[in-house]
Amino acid sequence: MKKAQTVPANCTACRLSGTRTNVVPGNGPSRSKILFIGEAPGRDEDLRGEPFVGSAGKTLNQALADLGVSREDVYVTNIVKCRPPGNRRPARDEIDACVGYLCAEVHRAGPSVICLLGQTVARELLGHNGKMSDIVGEVVDAKICGSDVKCVVAYHPAACLYRRANFDSFRESIAMGLKLAGIEGGRPQ
Ligand code: URA
Repeated sequence: MKKAQTVPANCTACRLSGTRTNVVPGNGPSRSKILFIGEAPGRDEDLRGEPFVGSAGKTLNQALADLGVSREDVYVTNIVKCRPPGNRRPARDEIDACVGYLCAEVHRAGPSVICLLGQTVARELLGHNGKMSDIVGEVVDAKICGSDVKCVVAYHPAACLYRRANFDSFRESIAMGLKLAGIEGGRPQ
């Protein structure tokens, strides 16, 4: 899988550089009709330097596979490229320091659809401060990094690990995003 080499391996743009093991740039095809954006790398991602390779990644891969789409065929990244200590939410200044890297990925991949994974991402990129259940599965026309895109909000894959209903909803949201992007997969099982 190709990496967007937008983030220098020795980046010191914010304090997360002091505690991370590796920077975690997004990965996937250099052009992608759909982009998946998560919150921040976790422990597994920090150790490997790749996004969504731990249990949340397995959930994402499973949903894509159920829909007949390979993870290698879509671009996956996070709002911040370094792991916050203890997996806390990234802070405002950390997000601000990293947003240029996210925008570089958006411009490079050129998606028409962006899937926002979880509440923090929906709040930061769409300004949604309400409940997740109010926005999950909705299609929102938005300007992300200056680009007009359709956004679909999904539960964060980590929220699906112990709740089957969340996984079903997650997969439906992903299916909607793929359909909007014109990516033909199979149907949910
Ligand atoms: N959770 C995220 O939001 N991103 C990852 O890369 C892994 C877990």
